[in-house]
Amino acid sequence: MNKKPNKIISVVTANYLEDLVLGLLAQAFEPYIKRDFKAKNFQVSYIEHTAATAGIVLAVMALEGFRNKIYYHKKIEPKNPVNDYTSILTKLNNNFPSTKFKNYLTELFIARDVVAHNHLYEVSYQYDDNYNVASCRQKLLKGYGDPKRKDKLLVKNNARKTRQLNLNLQPLKIGFEDLYTVLFFIDTTIAICQQQLGYGFIPFKPRHKVNGVYDENLSRILANYYYKIPNSSFKDRIQKLTLDLKNDYQEFIANNKFLINGFTAYSFDTHYVIDNHCPKCEIFGYHKPDGDYCKECGYSLSIGQS
Ligand SMILES: [Zn+2]
Repeated sequence: MNKKPNKIISVVTANYLEDLVLGLLAQAFEPYIKRDFKAKNFQVSYIEHTAATAGIVLAVMALEGFRNKIYYHKKIEPKNPVNDYTSILTKLNNNFPSTKFKNYLTELFIARDVVAHNHLYEVSYQYDDNYNVASCRQKLLKGYGDPKRKDKLLVKNNARKTRQLNLNLQPLKIGFEDLYTVLFFIDTTIAICQQQLGYGFIPFKPRHKVNGVYDENLSRILANYYYKIPNSSFKDRIQKLTLDLKNDYQEFIANNKFLINGFTAYSFDTHYVIDNHCPKCEIFGYHKPDGDYCKECGYSLSIGQS
């Protein structure tokens, strides 16, 4: 019996993103669309923040699981997920925008820590004469979070939100928008790793039923929510985020690039959030589970058109 033993590795958290998180996103969405977006508030509904906070923890754990898998196959000892992702992608590409990428990723882990380590906030609020919330203050209690953290500049202190992704850190306020935003950066990170390291390191295919049909592409699934989001300022923020991510990372995700009229254009293996804009008006959400068309300007590509 001189055969080499078979080996498997125990990366169970990688499955959370495929099998659990999108169900939690759908759960958070139901109460979310009933919210009054004009009213001031210090919390979202219990159902929304329970589903969204669990979704964020599981999604970021999945990202950590993917890192473990990459580092195992590359035979590197893992240390810190944020530094490890940034370091391996920067080693592969000298021009990788590592500082910005590291900041985005750090914000995800800050949001994860708030929930996973149950950071306690004290929220004080006042009603006006009509029993509408007139003001509220939220304070992180001593003993929670690390005041010496080097990344505290990534948090807007008064608002208790992260600076780039605008993720709520006061746990009662964490809702659909936060989980939805986290998934945009996770889609981009997975896309970069698949292209730079090989699809086999993160063979990611979410299985999610959308309008009665299964879809296996995270970008298309996220696009299906986009037009139903009632908060226009949040939609604008997502639109800006997708264009920023496209600008910064498309060259690391593309499988090919070519020149058209002096401009560099890119092609991709599949749809990603950075490649899901209408070719005419550039609004996010062109590729959806029920087909490719723009709900904003009505554009769709006909056969024979280029
Ligand atoms: Zn359009």
